[in-house]
Order: sequence, then C-alpha cells, then structure tokens
Amino acid sequence: ETQIPLLAEALEFAKNTGLTVKLDNKIQYFSDFQTDIFFDTVEKSGAHVGFTSTDTEYIKKAAARFPNAEIHYDGYVDENRLIELREILKDNELYIWLPVPSPVTDWVNVPMADGSLCKTVKKYGKLGLWIISDTDGLETAKKFGADIIETPGQIKPENKGNSIFDCHTHTHFSHDSECDPHDSLKASKERGIAGFAITDHCDIEYCKLQDVKTPIKRSADCAHEMGGSVLAGVEIGESILHKKDAEEVISGSNFDIVLGSVHAVQYKNQTLPYSKIDFSCFSADEINKYLSKYFDDMLEMIKTTDFDVLSHLTCPLRYISGKYGIAVDLKKFADKTDIILKEIINRGIALEINTSCLDTAYNVLMPDIPIIKRYKELGGYLLTLGSDAHIAKRIAYGFDYALSELSRLGFKNIYYYKNRKPIPQEIKL
Ligand SMILES: [Zn+2]
Ligand SMILES: [Zn+2]
Repeated sequence: ETQIPLLAEALEFAKNTGLTVKLDNKIQYFSDFQTDIFFDTVEKSGAHVGFTSTDTEYIKKAAARFPNAEIHYDGYVDENRLIELREILKDNELYIWLPVPSPVTDWVNVPMADGSLCKTVKKYGKLGLWIISDTDGLETAKKFGADIIETPGQIKPENKGNSIFDCHTHTHFSHDSECDPHDSLKASKERGIAGFAITDHCDIEYCKLQDVKTPIKRSADCAHEMGGSVLAGVEIGESILHKKDAEEVISGSNFDIVLGSVHAVQYKNQTLPYSKIDFSCFSADEINKYLSKYFDDMLEMIKTTDFDVLSHLTCPLRYISGKYGIAVDLKKFADKTDIILKEIINRGIALEINTSCLDTAYNVLMPDIPIIKRYKELGGYLLTLGSDAHIAKRIAYGFDYALSELSRLGFKNIYYYKNRKPIPQEIKL
C-alpha cells in the first residue's frame, strides 16, 4: 500500500540523500501559527530547502530564519523588483523563475521569458524556467541560459554511458601502495568508469607515533588538483582510539567522501591489525570472541565518527577464512550485523560493496550477499562500490559482477559522493 509521506519524512529523506527540497509558494498563505510549525519542522530536519514565493515580505521572513536556504522568487519581475530582492537577501542563493510561453503557461499573468528579460534576471540571480515538457522547450531553456528548469517529468537528466565511480582506491600516499594517481586515472578510463575517489589510509591509531596527517593532506590536495572525475577522500581507520585527531583529519581537507574502517580490533589489550595476526593459533572460541569484538568496535565507530561510507564490513574473514582457511558462520553474528546495518541506515551512512577479495582465496564480496540482502530488507539503499585497489590494474575490479548481483537483489541505484553528499547513479547492466 502506498502512503503519502509526512513533511518531516520527506525532509528526512532529502537530508539523507543530499537532495534539496523546493517548497511550493502555497506556503506563503499559511497563518502565522501554521508558518511557525512549518518552519520548526524544516529547521529540525536539517534538510537543504528552497522557499518559493511571490511575496517579498514572506521572503524576508524565510531568509532571516534560514540563511542557508535557497530563495525561489516566482512573482512579477522587472528590474526594480530584482534590485529589491537583491537588497533583502544577503547570504541566500536567489533563483528567479520565469514562465516559458506554451499552452500550459498561457493563463499566467506575469512577464514571459524572452532573451532580454532572461539576461536581466541573470545579473541578479539564477534563472529558473517553467514549464518545460518537451525537447523544444528544453532547447529554449538552454538558449535563454536557464540554471534550473521545472518539468512535469518528461525531461530526464541525460545519462552519459556508464556513470559508475570506484569510491575506494589507494595511491602512494598510503603506506601500503606505490600507485601513481595518474596511473589510477588512466586505468579508470580504460575500465570505462566515470571516475574514482582517492581514499588513502589514515590509520589514526598511529597518530601519536608518526605523522599520519600530512600524507592525507597531500593525497587530498592531489585529488583536488586532478579534479574532474577524481574525488578527494580518506579511509580513516581506528577513529575510536583517538577521536579528536580523527575529527581534525576529517574536517581538515574538504573531502568528497570519508570512509570509516576497522583494521585493528581492540582485543586482549592489543590493537594489532588483523592482517598481521596469525589466526591459526586461535581456538574456535577465540575466533568468535575476536569477531564479536570487531563488530563492537565497528558499532562504536559508527556512533562516534563523522564518516560517509562503512568500508569492507566482514574484512577479517579475508585473513581468517582466506589466508588461514578457517570457516566462519556469519549467521552466529546476525544480531550484531543487524544492529550495525540498522545504525548506518538511521545515520544515512552508506554500505560499501568491496570487491577487493574477488578472485583471491576469499572469493566473495565484502560484505557477502546474505548481509547485502539483509541490508535491503531493513530498508537500506545507500550503496557504494569500492575496489580498494592498491595497484592501478585493480581499479573497478569485479564491478560488473557486483552490479549484476545488486541488480538481482533489487537495488536500482549505486551512489558516489561529492562534497560528502551521496549522488545516485542508475544501475545499468
Ligand atoms: Zn581498509
Ligand atoms: Zn582501503
């Protein structure tokens, strides 16, 4: 059964998906009492919104309360009105909407878009054109330099070929990679993916022993300089051991994407990375205790660290099962993995589908299909793909397989992150 969402639910969805909600101009006719409730609901959500109005008094009120909101003016337009709007608005982004002549706008009694009016508007703000319902209309909108259009749905964004990003790759700024970022770029183009994020290791557990911050700054600067299809990221490990330092790194470099990882578990007063542990000495019971602690550390990271994507969930199995051939039944940990999945869903953190183990001794996705399936059952939809490549030729490795599995499980989109906001890309096989 389809249910119409409440405003708060729609705003929450927008907040979690990084969308902006443009609120209709009908709200300007609300009573003061209704407006207060409405504004409170918007403010509480933290969503990015645009207020649409024909009324400069209403715009004043909305802008004063929401200095980061977009203002969409769709009333009568002449140069005096544009000057007035510009004076009212200090920080808010201003969009001015004009109707395009067509049968669906012939009832409108404000000036229609034409070349000279559009040019004037663009001196004062961004130009919105409505209602664009066919390709001719779209051509007109392009000709007039529209920054944004309104369409009843006939006009869809162009999808240029494969738009998949590899959201987890390493370069020589990581301690365990020698990869030149330009080789990564070349490899990504050969693979036919749209781009990739450089997410070098920041193993925060070592921050008191060595400088883990400078390499990450350099990595991010390099990604920003390369620009275009290269996104700036970081893979932060063990953030729970030095929370302040982790916060400093995360907020320090204008990242597009922050990955959260557990590489070293706090187990028996040790925090050795699991890649360096000899699990053949562990009893079955110890393995269970170790994994149990792994999931607990992960949950603490999720609750206390500001990151976007949960990386390679179940990664210790790469060593326990892959390297040492010890079979583990993950069903035993279903309670813990459920809590983790629910927590990331609630917090709007994406689940990474990590392909780095494909064609190795542990030849599965991380996490594997049963957990991905469970994530979907619990309402999860934010997924990224990460090859975790440490050499250029592993960029986007196994993505075709991963995408076909995700599609089979009923997922429609895969996401990448720009400015720490998730951007959906349709899964096309
Ligand atoms: Zn990792
Ligand atoms: Zn990694």
